[in-house]
Amino acid sequence: MNKKTVRDIDLRGKRVLMRVDFNVPLKNGVIQDDIRMRAALPTINYVLDQEPKYLVLMSHLGDPKKDAKKAKEKAEKDGKPFDEAKYIEGKHKMKPVVEHLSELLHRPVKLAPAAIGPDAKSAVDGLKEGEVLMLENTRFHKAETSKEAADRESMAKELASYGDVYVNDAFGTAHRPHASTETVARFLPAVAGFLMEKELDYLGKAIENPAKPYVAVLGGAKISGKIDVLQNLMGKVDAILIGGGMMFTFYKAQGMEIGKSLLEEDKIELAKKILAEASANNVKLLLPVDTLVADKFDNAAATKIVAVNAIPSDWAGVDIGPETIRIFAEEIKKAKTVVWNGPMGVFEMSNFAKGTNAIAHAMADATKTGAVTIVGGGDSASAIAQAGLDKQVSHVSTGGGASLEFLEGKVLPGVAALNDKA
Ligand code: AMP
Repeated sequence: MNKKTVRDIDLRGKRVLMRVDFNVPLKNGVIQDDIRMRAALPTINYVLDQEPKYLVLMSHLGDPKKDAKKAKEKAEKDGKPFDEAKYIEGKHKMKPVVEHLSELLHRPVKLAPAAIGPDAKSAVDGLKEGEVLMLENTRFHKAETSKEAADRESMAKELASYGDVYVNDAFGTAHRPHASTETVARFLPAVAGFLMEKELDYLGKAIENPAKPYVAVLGGAKISGKIDVLQNLMGKVDAILIGGGMMFTFYKAQGMEIGKSLLEEDKIELAKKILAEASANNVKLLLPVDTLVADKFDNAAATKIVAVNAIPSDWAGVDIGPETIRIFAEEIKKAKTVVWNGPMGVFEMSNFAKGTNAIAHAMADATKTGAVTIVGGGDSASAIAQAGLDKQVSHVSTGGGASLEFLEGKVLPGVAALNDKA
């Protein structure tokens, strides 16, 4: 990584402004999973050990306007009452995050009532030597995500006025060119935190200099969500293993019947093109040979294992089958670099999670024999944590969208904005 990090800059006595990704799932004000918070602790503790003047932290927490609109529509559809203020209070306000952070750091953390504006400024101005302050959810301000550069700039300038130095440790939001992730970096010396550095190192290994054989495992619902990764990895990997809902569009492209399985009708031609590209590039593209089918989309559905060319017309494929698991695990075992993004089946339902779990185990096994194993964030990260194997792979990314875009070969705006090493 050619970006400066907190190690490359003197923080003593400085006012430090740091973007973290504390976008944790909250239910009625209770944090459901604090992985992202824990992942930022090494940087926060390092900064505090340098005895800065003070530390101001900022993060988004969900998307208040968008989420509330969706929740309201759902409540209306279900004929239930909807209290927007209460919804936002329980899902988008930083109070529980600040309380939890204070426990994790074993020190008090203050909360500002806003991210910008006079109340935020006076909270920052009131900070004493060595104190830590968290700003309220940055996405309460429209300018944070505004498409207008001038709006973002004006918010970013306010944020920048709180600090002498900007640290970005929010890898999970680095693919968004927002005021607090990208624009602010133009107004202060800007460096990466350790989480950002670690993410870029591992994901960088996977796209720049991967040890061979290099295997990519892709799953998830749709081809459309993974197409750019597929195409970018095509020239780099030795094998691509495809599972999840997207496998069925590939079968359809080969003229097979897929019953009620997920199909992206408008991606059939694209699937044909990818199959042709793989064969032209000598990339081993492996599709499942068997699948678990269910008679309805329900964990209690009747299920059976069938060969992929024998899917009954009124059943749907919901997981990869045992023979596929064996073949995929074998490929992963032979690899020296493995990247995995996307579940092999509808893993949220326990009866359809076998394939996804098996990949998690194969990744852990490959790690033991020396492979670099990388789990792209999002669902695959939840799956590997669910299997209790998240500490047994080389790296589990904290950023779903960000890691995908990085693997697609895109420049992440939040990273590009940081200062280059000399
Ligand atoms: P993505 O966000 O594209 O990675 O997709 C993740 C989603 O794909 C998960 O919610 C899975 O339940 C879903 N998924 C995986 N396999 C299937 C399948 N065979 N049929 C329908 N959905 C699937």
